[in-house]
Order: sequence, then C-alpha cells, then structure tokens
Amino acid sequence: MSTFSSLGLSEPLLQAITELGFETPMPVQEAVIPHQLTTSQDLVALAQTGTGKTAAYGLPLLQKMDMSHEVFSPRAVILSPTRELCLQIADDLESFAKYLPDVRILPVYGGANIEPQIRALHHGIDIIVATPGRLIDLMHRGAANLEAVHTIILDEADEMLSMGFSESIDAILEGVPANHTTLLFSATMSKEIERIAKNYLHDAKEIVVGSRNEGAEHVNHIYFMVHARDKYLALKRIVDYYPKIYAIVFCRTRLETQEVADKLIQDGYNADALHGDLSQQQRDLTMQRFRQHRIQLLVATDVAARGLDVDDLTHVINYGMPEDIENYTHRSGRTGRAGKKGTSICIVHSRERSRIRDVERTIKKEFVRGTLPSPKEICSKQLWKVIDDIERVEVEEEEIADFLPEVRRKLEWLDKEDLLKRVVSREFSRFLRYYANAPEIEEISEEKKKAKGAGKGKKSEGKSEKRKDGHRAEGDHEPEEGYTRFFITLGKVDGFYAREIIGVVNNRCPGPKIEMGRIDLRPTFSFFEVPEEEAGRVLKGLKGLTYKGRRIGVDIAEMANNSVEAAPKHPKKRAQQRFEQKFAPKNTKKRRFS
Ligand code: AMP
Repeated sequence: MSTFSSLGLSEPLLQAITELGFETPMPVQEAVIPHQLTTSQDLVALAQTGTGKTAAYGLPLLQKMDMSHEVFSPRAVILSPTRELCLQIADDLESFAKYLPDVRILPVYGGANIEPQIRALHHGIDIIVATPGRLIDLMHRGAANLEAVHTIILDEADEMLSMGFSESIDAILEGVPANHTTLLFSATMSKEIERIAKNYLHDAKEIVVGSRNEGAEHVNHIYFMVHARDKYLALKRIVDYYPKIYAIVFCRTRLETQEVADKLIQDGYNADALHGDLSQQQRDLTMQRFRQHRIQLLVATDVAARGLDVDDLTHVINYGMPEDIENYTHRSGRTGRAGKKGTSICIVHSRERSRIRDVERTIKKEFVRGTLPSPKEICSKQLWKVIDDIERVEVEEEEIADFLPEVRRKLEWLDKEDLLKRVVSREFSRFLRYYANAPEIEEISEEKKKAKGAGKGKKSEGKSEKRKDGHRAEGDHEPEEGYTRFFITLGKVDGFYAREIIGVVNNRCPGPKIEMGRIDLRPTFSFFEVPEEEAGRVLKGLKGLTYKGRRIGVDIAEMANNSVEAAPKHPKKRAQQRFEQKFAPKNTKKRRFS
C-alpha cells in the first residue's frame, strides 16, 4: 500500500495533510499525484465528489507552484460549477498550503460583488478558483490575465456543462497559453465532455475511479410505488417512521422543492428548502443550519445540494427518480459514508418503475420494494422515541429542586398511571391525531401494474407503438392518472428545460400555481403533464405563444405514441405528426428561453 510520502509529496504538504487526518492516499490520489508531480501530460479523471479529488490535483499543484511571487498574474486556474465548491476548494487548498510559503489563492464566483475580486487580482494571485461565468467577466474587464497560466483544472466538468457553462469553458480554454496542462475531472463521460477533451486536451492520460470510498457499499436502495397524487403522503409516512431521520429529500425542480418544503413545514416538520431561486445568503444559512442538525429534512435540488458536504445522513430520499442515472448515483452516495449504514429511498409512481430497473443495471445493485409503514407501525415507532427520550432525559436535580414541591402539590391527585398517560398523550398527540384519520395510500402492486399494462397492450394492438428502429421513443407515455399530457414545440436545443416549462406555464396561466406532473424533454419538442382539471386553463393560457418571433405549438398529446418518427395509422396520430412537423423548429442553434 502506498503512502503520501511514497507518492513524492514534499514535507510541508505531508505535515499539513497529516494534521488534516489523511493517513493513506485514496485511489484517485494514488493515480493523479505521482503523475502530476512527474509530468505535464493532460489528464481526464472520471471521479465523483467525495473521492478525494481536490487533494489529488491540489497537492501536486501546490508543490509545483513557483512561490517567488515574481509573476503577478495567476499560474493556475481551477474552474468549478458553484460558489460553494469554489469556496470549498479554496479552503482545502489553503489548508494543504498551511506550511508552504505564502500562496495566494483567490475564489471568484458570480452573485458576489466583483469589485473586491478585481482588487484582489490586482494585488497578485497564484491560484484562481472560479466559476466560469465570473472568470469570463473578469477577463473581459481586464482584471484576470491568464497569460501566465500553466495549469487549468476543470472540476466537476459535467456539472458545469449541465449548468450551461459550455461556451464560457470554451472561451477560457481558448484564452490560456497553448503549452498549459489541463486536468479534467468529471463524474460522467458525456458526449459534451468527450468533445471538450478532444478539442482542448492532448494525449491525455485517462483514469477511472470508483464511487466515493466505502459509500456505495453501505447503501440500501428501497423504493415505494404509489400514485403521483400520493407521493407527499408517502413521504410523510416514511419520515414519520424514522423519528431520528436526518435526510436530504431530492426533488427535480426548484418549484417542487419549495412546495414540498412548504408542506412539510406547515405539517410541523423540521424542514427547509435549498434551491437556486433562493439568495446566496439564504442558501448559506440553510446549509449551515442543516450541517448543525438544526434542520432535520433538507428538501433540495441536485445542483443546490452540490456544495453541501455532510457525512452523517441517515437517508437520502428521492422524491421521484432523477432524470439522469448519474444524479441518482450522486444522491445515494451522500448517505452510507464514513463507515455508517445509509438508505436511499425512492418514492416513485408507476411509470418510473423502468427507471428503477435502469439504475439497478447501472449500479449493479438490486432495489428492495418497500411497503409503506402502517399508521399503527408509525405510531408505535414514534411512541418508542417519546418514551426513550423520557428515559434518557438528564435530570437537573439542583436546578429543579426549588420548583418540585409546587409541581408535586399540583399533580398529587394523579397516580403514576395517569401521569404516564398524560405525558405520552401530550408528546405524541400530533401523530395520534393525524394517523387516527390518515388518508389511505394505495400502493401499486407489480401484478396490478402488469395486468393494467397487458390490457393496454391489447387495446393498442395493431397500432403503431414503436419507432421504426423497433424501440419505444422516450416520450411514449400515457399521462399519469389524473393528469393531462401536453405537447409543446420547444425543446432542449431552445434551452427549454423543466424549469422553463414550469415557468412559462405558470406565467401564462394566471391564478393558483399549477402543480406540474411528469416532464419529458426532447431536443426540439417536449411533453409535460398538468392535473386534468387544469388542462383547460393551460390550453387557453398557452394559446398563441410565440418565442423569438416563432409561433410555438402547444396541444394535448392524447395518445400513447408521441413519437415523431413513427408513421401512425390512427388519423388522430397522423394529425399529431403533421402538427409536430409543422411546428418543429428548423434552426437547432442553442437559444435561451426568456
Ligand atoms: P473531495 O472529493 O476532494 O471533496 O474529498 C472528500 C473528503 O475526503 C474531504 O472531506 C477530504 O478532506 C477528505 N479526504 C481527501 N483525501 C483524504 C485521505 N487521503 N484520507 C482521508 N480523508 C481524505
């Protein structure tokens, strides 16, 4: 087994990391550190958050850094997707550099006053840790000069791309001297990452590191299948069944995140929301409170939860399956850390069953189908917690001594049994009251779903259910029960994602907020579902929608086959296809929806 010393690290760095408690190198460090210390070859590393990659690139970078301070402008640039990560990376580097002569590390990120960042850059900086957008801004203002940069590190490159930083990254990579070294770290290898690697990296060494240390090994995966309308009730039951739960509840959109958090707070839970619509200050405060366990349930989007490093989550709850399998790996890897057991729970509706199978295949682990705890089971679990808490209470003999005689006098007419009943009822009343009349949750059984599916198959026999290539198209879905499915001729190439769909629907339909159901995004068009009773309002609201001078088609997608490639026999489907072709955008250049 290698040691940090055998990897070639210098004494001051060894001393600093020993103080940080690093004993043995993690796999990514074993692979990257000696490579970086001995060569200037580019590198692509597939490694997730939590694998120790900051030290893997940070330690050799610091060791190779010229500390003479003769050069004024930065010698290294680290790009990262969020402000939190920038701060975390800069902090880590500062700790590693504790025993090195003065290294000037500056985190710069959007959403903060740019002036102090410009001033700091004028004073001379060795390593700049930046979000791509802010760095471009600083370059345009002439404050960040990248002419002396010899190393550029892209941290969480996939995340930066999914946040729309692709063009900024291109511009930055084009603006650094040709003979620099590039290190690219990404949790996934998407087409876009491949493109960047191909265009900007030369003869790169590739390394793949497994998921975060022991994490994945210690995680159980459980799913509960309910109707979409019962997802929140199911969440409550699960949370109630684990009185000591300390969890992140992942939602797919900011809107859903806020709504779930609001409902939980209203229902008396110790919860809060974390998403990109909140100010930086609010997010910082929420994260701090969660880290300190002052919040028990953090309802968050994938991106917003990125900067949060907590090691002792008992559960991760997926409020619906994430769009990408990689996101599921990220989410579930947040529990089961530091040698503890963790549980990743998925609350899914019937149409997400296939996603569970996809994830099972990818992570090579089987999910257990869970049965929601009954009201009685929950009540006895909660009651146990109440009496356990009472048993463990530290009695402050001296502090209460003066008050006890009066308490005794007041309660002397009650015997022990009465007293017990009162204490328990008082502590426990929220659950007793709720579960005495708790709404029923119908769990969807596999058999029932199969039977339903078989019936559907028969009904649509002879109709075009498949694309020409024999596969079902991704959007081939019937709406979730109680929902109406819409088709819209705006897609991912228009910069039209779930957030934009939710935004446009709610902006154009005044009145109470519309709770969106499933959203399926395609390159040039999309599907979305809204509660049946809102369909009229949505149709009316979106009538005549235009975007960049282009008329946007919106209509109800009634049939199971929404594939544009198919040649449907059904006249209604042919009409739909004509409709799609008529409205399909010709220009596929990326545009942002405004
Ligand atoms: P990272 O992937 O860089 O975010 O690192 C994840 C966590 O692992 C951080 O809290 C690091 O401080 C910690 N860490 C990194 N390397 C080691 C190591 N060799 N031994 C123990 N902890 C480490």
